[in-house]
Amino acid sequence: MSGSIFEDVDHYIDSLFTPDEDVLSDVLQRAAAAGLPDIHISPGQGKFLYLLAKMSRAKRILELGTLAGYSTIWLGRAMPEDGELTTIEIDPVHADVARGSLKAAGLEASCEVVVGSALDVLPGLTGPFDLIFIDANKESYPAYLTHAVRLTRPGGLILADNVVRRGAVLGNSMDPAVIGAKAFNQALASHPQLEAIVLQQVGRKGHDGLAIARVKDAG
Ligand code: SAM
Repeated sequence: MSGSIFEDVDHYIDSLFTPDEDVLSDVLQRAAAAGLPDIHISPGQGKFLYLLAKMSRAKRILELGTLAGYSTIWLGRAMPEDGELTTIEIDPVHADVARGSLKAAGLEASCEVVVGSALDVLPGLTGPFDLIFIDANKESYPAYLTHAVRLTRPGGLILADNVVRRGAVLGNSMDPAVIGAKAFNQALASHPQLEAIVLQQVGRKGHDGLAIARVKDAG
């Protein structure tokens, strides 16, 4: 045991619900060896995304911000056999590592990594998606939300990570990531087509939050 009670409990939960598994731990090792930053979601967060995707029977998934493909694998594993996932990554080195991760997980046929800036790629995508996970640069979150609402089917889910920023969303930070998260939360809370909440999270990734929104049924 080490760190705060929140980290220790996070490790306890992960040890119960996300047993160590070679493919996922290899992804993290290869990512570190390739010099990628350790900003993947945690195992417990991955399991939570997996469960949300399963519960919503998501068959078509879009992810913004691939990194090494760790969250992509959790989401990709939740899809049925004929599911399709598109993940957008601006950094070609990250995208290369992610393609290796997806191959190792046996998901290369169902999960496509698109290299580019999400704001350039999104206008060319056609919906509907069942679930969209936003986890790229935070300053563009408000713009990502506009695209996500356009691309998600009624009843579908829009998820966004890192929207609490260790509580910095309470203050007047000039950090573009905090400004982006605050504007995103505001837009999410007041969007007429969405029902949403932010779940505050503490644990091995520090203090942050995940936004969960459902697109209202049509009519
Ligand atoms: N979802 C990943 C996971 O949990 O395994 C972590 C994603 S990491 C927090 C954010 C990723 O978004 C980085 O790989 C970064 O290169 C990418 N990114 C940053 N700006 C982007 C942009 N404008 N368009 C697409 N990807 C971007």
